[in-house]
This record gives sequence, C-alpha cells and structure tokens, in this order.
Amino acid sequence: HADTMMTRQAASGAGLAGKGAGPLVQLAGIRKSFGAVEVLKGVDLSVEEGRVVALIGRSGSGKSTLLRIVNGLERPTDGVVIVDGERADGRERERDLKALRLKVGMVFQQFNLFPHLSAGGNVMLSLKVVKKMATAEAEAVARAMLAKVGLSDRFDHTPDQLSGGQQQRVAIARALAMQPKVLLCDEITSALDPELVAEVLAVVRTLAEEGMTLVMVTHEMRFAREVCDELVFMHQGRIHERGAPKDLFAHQQTPELAAFIGEP
Ligand code: ADP
Ligand code: MG
Repeated sequence: HADTMMTRQAASGAGLAGKGAGPLVQLAGIRKSFGAVEVLKGVDLSVEEGRVVALIGRSGSGKSTLLRIVNGLERPTDGVVIVDGERADGRERERDLKALRLKVGMVFQQFNLFPHLSAGGNVMLSLKVVKKMATAEAEAVARAMLAKVGLSDRFDHTPDQLSGGQQQRVAIARALAMQPKVLLCDEITSALDPELVAEVLAVVRTLAEEGMTLVMVTHEMRFAREVCDELVFMHQGRIHERGAPKDLFAHQQTPELAAFIGEP
C-alpha cells in the first residue's frame, strides 16, 4: 500500500523526497492528541507542486490542526511531515523548523494584522525582521504585493480604515511577500460579510491559476468545485473521502459526505 510504504520509508529516513522531487507536502500517519483526546487519527496526504487542495468537513473534524501541523505551529504526536524536503514533525532541529516556516505561508480566518501598522507596514514587517531586508527593498516588495491583491492605493491605511475583505487581502499579500512554496488558507472568508467574500476568492483563484500550491480549508463549495484539483473530506480526525471535486460532488461513497454536501 503506497501510503504505508511512504510512512515506512520516511520513518526510516530512506527514500525521502529531496528538494524539487516528489510531492511538495507529504504527510504520513499523522496523529495528534491534546491530552487524552486524539483529534487526528492517522492522516496521509500528499500535495504535488502547483496543486490546489480543499479540506472540507464539520467543525471539530481536525482541519485546522492538520494545517497547523503543516507549517509547524503544532507538532504531531506521531507521523511524518515533509515540506519541500524539510522535516516538520518535531524530530528536526529548531533551525530546520525556521526553514520550514519560510516555505509555508498561512492566512487565517481572523486576518491577524497588526492594528497599529499600515497595510504596507504589515507586509514589510517579516521581510525586515525575518528576511533582514533593507527598508527600501521591503517597501518595494510590499507595494508590488499589495498591487497584486488589488490594493495599490491602500499602502498607508491601517486595518481599521479597511474593509474585512481588504484586510484579508493584505494578509494574503503579507504571506505572499515571503515567497512561500505553499500557501495554507484556513477559512479565510468565514469572518467576512457575504458581499466581501468574492473579492478575496478572486485573489485566491488568480494565485491558483498562476500555479501556486494551495491547501485551503473552505466552506465555499462552489469555489472548491471550480478551482480545486482535489477535495479532501475530513471526518472525526480521519480523511473519510477524497477525490476530484467533480466526482465527489456527483456521487459520494459515504453517508457522512453525502450529508455534509447536502447541507445548505
Ligand atoms: P476544525 O478546524 O475541523 O474545526 P480543529 O482542528 O480546530 O477542527 O479541532 C479538532 C479538535 O481538536 C476539536 O475537538 C478541538 O476542540 C480540538 N483542539 C484543537 N486545538 C486544541 C488545543 N490547542 N487544545 C485542546 N484541544 C484542541
Ligand atoms: Mg478550523
């Protein structure tokens, strides 16, 4: 069985995909417990470069925890995480975890912008602090990234002067400025008023078309169907069903996915 094979190979350190070879993101046998509660019960997931994967499922099924494991915010209790050749499952040294975080961008439901910094300042911060970029260069990158998300004219605006959709686009620009290999999006439109959802999804759609590798937790089923290459349905800490969106929407193998898709 291919997934088991990968777990064994990866666990023994043999046959690890090097940089540029194999899937960009490899998760094998991922388990995660918080205290006595096991919230991930053995997840295998590979994401090839340039692919767009949607994670769907009920609240509490483990979607956010899985994303947080991919960027090293959480360490799995068991299993192997490899992103572009970097191990991220707690067996690596601190230095490697930093390398990993540079490769993985993340955008959250609640924007997480610094309220006292302008849009430009938010995008520049990590460039200066983490990448040690000079101010002029960081500003040039920030202006380019804000232009990319349609906010050229908002460089000096603070978050409270921006709509939710604009704030979320600043958060996307901030993640992109670090030139991640993969971008993780965790329900990035769930906190937005309905009329602001489309402008954020349009940015994500453009990124997908440009070949960005994306893993997104989303409730936007139409978007998932149109833009994603693979749909992954999580249920009670496991991948319950997966496949091409058109296949999963046409027929579900499990009553759980059928019920989930059938909900308004
Ligand atoms: P989802 O994103 O699918 O809603 P989560 O990954 O956020 O699911 O949560 C999965 C389960 O793990 C939930 O039962 C949640 O309460 C629990 N959980 C998540 N983070 C923590 C934590 N830091 N401590 C304890 N329990 C947690
Ligand atoms: Mg979540």
